[in-house]
Amino acid sequence: MKHWAMYIGGQWEQALSSATYETINPANGQAVGTAPYGGRADAERAVAAAAAAFPAWSKRPAKERAELLHRIAARMTEASEELAELITLEMGKPLAEARGEVKIAIDYLKWNAEEAVRAYGKVIPASVEGKRLLTIRQPVGPVGAITPWNFPLSMAARKLGPALAAGCTVVFKPAPQTPGAALKLAELAEREGLPPGVLNVVTGDAEEIGGVLLNHPAIRKITFTGSTAVGKKLLRGAADQVKKMSMELGGHAPFIVFEDADLDEAVRGAMASKFRNAGQTCICANRIYVQESIAAAFTDKLKSAVERLVVGDGRDPRTELGPVIDARALEKAERHVRDAVAKGAQVVTGGGRKTDTPGFFFEPTVLTGATPDMQVMREETFGPVAPIASFRTEEEAIAMANDTPYGLAAYFYTRDLSRMFRVHEALEYGIVGCNDAVPTTVQGPFGGVKESGIGREGGPDSVADYLETKFVSIQIE
Ligand code: ADP
Repeated sequence: MKHWAMYIGGQWEQALSSATYETINPANGQAVGTAPYGGRADAERAVAAAAAAFPAWSKRPAKERAELLHRIAARMTEASEELAELITLEMGKPLAEARGEVKIAIDYLKWNAEEAVRAYGKVIPASVEGKRLLTIRQPVGPVGAITPWNFPLSMAARKLGPALAAGCTVVFKPAPQTPGAALKLAELAEREGLPPGVLNVVTGDAEEIGGVLLNHPAIRKITFTGSTAVGKKLLRGAADQVKKMSMELGGHAPFIVFEDADLDEAVRGAMASKFRNAGQTCICANRIYVQESIAAAFTDKLKSAVERLVVGDGRDPRTELGPVIDARALEKAERHVRDAVAKGAQVVTGGGRKTDTPGFFFEPTVLTGATPDMQVMREETFGPVAPIASFRTEEEAIAMANDTPYGLAAYFYTRDLSRMFRVHEALEYGIVGCNDAVPTTVQGPFGGVKESGIGREGGPDSVADYLETKFVSIQIE
């Protein structure tokens, strides 16, 4: 059992109320640690610490901030295995995937460190004699960051990287299920000399901590990754103080396979997109659309691949598919399958929870005959369930793909170059994978359109969301 403490103003602290809660390994339902159950007063202390640290941190030369981030990244590299094991223990993904997550988290710190030194302003030619116009870019201020459990470390790095690089200080609230990764990161940052108050990590009551971040005037921006429902709540709450908001919300990714696609590649892609992280990523394929002429062949191949998946505890090196996060997630997958079957879908393989093991395991599942009225075709399942529908024409596929309030990621497989352009231009999504089921990379701007979010993380403009542009107009003699 690991007993975590919160990190506030450079001190390792318990909640003022002394309350704690247990974290659970979803592979067996056993408690693996405790974390403080912080509340309003703890969050207020963290905000005060972030506000106090802001003036000095924001004035530090960007080069120094960048060097510090690089050193933290190096510490993370040394601690890679420990971090990966922690992720697997707290949220269940296979160790190989956890190692991948640690690697990309390190890359997010490095990438943003490299960008920090290029927060250029501009000198703008004036239209009036004697005027000089320029812009400077300054950190937005102390930031509140809230993340989910499905990528506990890379989500943290995606937010902390650009925030700290830009000169912002941070109050960070990890998901209750996975406090370890962010707290371990804070520990490494502290050892590298990150000044007290620059990063604060608070665990506990989400509504109370979220409420402080929204209502405290010192917090100038909120960056959130999580469900669309909570994102909307935060957006409403932020209106009173017109806080800057970055939102990475839910998705409902279509995965389209055209008849000219390389079928084996498309199956490999569908496996990677759907079953990675047990189907618990916001860019996971949710709806698979296959052109009629190849639907049967695709389904057969997908079924065989799914039946070969090794399901088990993520710490076992043979495991390819771990558990879902908790009993609620298991119930949702079950509900979606039940609803689909009641509305006419057929179960090709899987279809229910695994009953022969403890923990929260759902069988990798393929459904055919999926129709738009089914929950699985409209809401994120966040589990290893792959519903397949067929389509006749390209126009029909695009219309079906766009028929959703979400707009995070979409995928399609084709070998026709013209179609590749037509389709990616027509898809109303922030991220499109053409013959590519794993588009996430630090070099690419990650984010959604429609109800999937506001802003982008990573990519060439990753630090921009944490900077304000100040326009300076100078009248000279
Ligand atoms: P999920 O269903 O994947 O857990 P959530 O959107 O509920 O997604 O959670 C994402 C993050 O948002 C978590 O850190 C959670 O604790 C936090 N959260 C949930 N409700 C609130 C709230 N009302 N205010 C602030 N944060 C919240």
